[in-house]
Amino acid sequence: MTTTEQSGMPATSLQDIIGHAKEYGFVFPSSEIYDGLQAVYDYGQNGVELKNNLKAVWWKAMTQLNDNVVGIDSSIFMHPLIWKASGHVDSFNDPMIDNRDSKKRYRADQLLELKAEEYANAGDEARSTALLQEMGRLLGNNDLDGVRNLIIAEGIKDPVSGTDNWTEVRQFNLMFSTQVGSLAEDASLIYLRPETAQGIFVNFLNVQKTGRMKVPFGIAQIGKAFRNEIVARQFTFRMREFEQMEMQFFVRPGTEMEWYERWRDTRMKFHQALGLPAERLKFHPHEKLAHYANAAVDIEYKFPFGFREMEGIHSRTDFDLKAHQEMSRKKQQYFDNDIDPATGKAYGNYIPYVVETSVGADRLFLAVLCNAFTKEVVRSGAPGEGDEQKERTYLKLHPALAPIKAAVFPLVRKDGLPDKAEQIMKSLRSEFRVVMEERDAIGKRYTRQDLIGTPFCIVVDYQTMDDDTVTIRYRDTTEQIRVPINELKSRIGQEVSMERLLEQM
Ligand code: ATP
Repeated sequence: MTTTEQSGMPATSLQDIIGHAKEYGFVFPSSEIYDGLQAVYDYGQNGVELKNNLKAVWWKAMTQLNDNVVGIDSSIFMHPLIWKASGHVDSFNDPMIDNRDSKKRYRADQLLELKAEEYANAGDEARSTALLQEMGRLLGNNDLDGVRNLIIAEGIKDPVSGTDNWTEVRQFNLMFSTQVGSLAEDASLIYLRPETAQGIFVNFLNVQKTGRMKVPFGIAQIGKAFRNEIVARQFTFRMREFEQMEMQFFVRPGTEMEWYERWRDTRMKFHQALGLPAERLKFHPHEKLAHYANAAVDIEYKFPFGFREMEGIHSRTDFDLKAHQEMSRKKQQYFDNDIDPATGKAYGNYIPYVVETSVGADRLFLAVLCNAFTKEVVRSGAPGEGDEQKERTYLKLHPALAPIKAAVFPLVRKDGLPDKAEQIMKSLRSEFRVVMEERDAIGKRYTRQDLIGTPFCIVVDYQTMDDDTVTIRYRDTTEQIRVPINELKSRIGQEVSMERLLEQM
């Protein structure tokens, strides 16, 4: 009998997560043998499975659960005028500020946001909101001197040097550029895309026409994006190369708020279905709307470093399609032949409005990993039989997301048990990811699978050889049940199925 007590364990820190991710093959620093490359990470053998599962659930949630959302895969390189039209060349900037003493660089808006968070944590919500509003006003007017003065007036010091010897605030464009063309003279400047959304906008009519899509409809895409982030210190939360999962939903103008609210709620349900608890998720409406948006909200997750944006839901009006129409001189209109009850005539030609949902695969990965990371104090032994306290660490991942669904262990490496275990493993592996492990004591093997979040361990023992039954041990409860081998496929298959997860969305 094992009981768990959650009290007394220190809160999980980001360092715990980084350490665990590295040690158990989830995330490695990029180019590690060359001392790494800042804000770039590689996914290891378990991390890639977890991330692929997250991407697959998102993809299915978008393209299978909606009859009017289809996917595309556009390229990373695009015509440079796309970024001119979208406003990225002129204004995809972050305000940066340096401390002259420490020589450290910061994002001016983040310094102020941290201060506002301090006020809010101390219970002074009014001061926190007022500060954010003032910051929004100054940035909106591009008043960079004003932003610097506000930092000084708020008494914000560099955490490294402890001084307020700040430089002026400057705007820094986040796009990476490179050249295409084999000869330098012919070369033309192009950008690595800083978001996947523009690849969707410029394919809007291709998809609409070839797919005979009727507004409202959506286009989903998963792909890499690149941003030369000024400060990138929070593991996969802020990377310079990352992956986005974006969906642009094209609607009739005037109906956008209704769709915005629907998508906001749908996306929150998605995160909860993955197992992220409601109390660690919240909506954060934008204080200041971008010039093209008429509504915007973030879904924030409570990471070990506080509530931070994981996904953005934005009502972007017709800003992007209109800008591309003007820049490319190609009409981006849709003919709506539904009848407008107000006029009795077809709605006719218009540029659709867009509601976008945009989530970072790496931020979602980090949220899911942080949430799964569980440390418990376990008391082993029957009541009264001694009170040995042990620590147990495991990843409480949703079974449909776990990198490995089941591990098969022969109890001993003799008497035909390994062959039997291998047969079982082979009979299951076309259904889900299953591994076999023979080395070390059973307890150690359980621990290894717990640490990577495997939900089920199957043990083949001497009784198996007599009656074709095995034990299944459940990761979260450590409870064990005995089942016939021929029930394994359906029992485990059901629990790990992505379809079951999708049904909860
Ligand atoms: P932030 O304010 O944190 O820089 P953002 O508002 O610029 O984020 P968006 O442009 O709305 O982010 O991008 C949509 C999503 O892409 C974000 O919600 C986030 O999940 C993800 N994302 C953006 N930048 C990064 C990054 N540098 N690293 C990892 N994910 C990112």
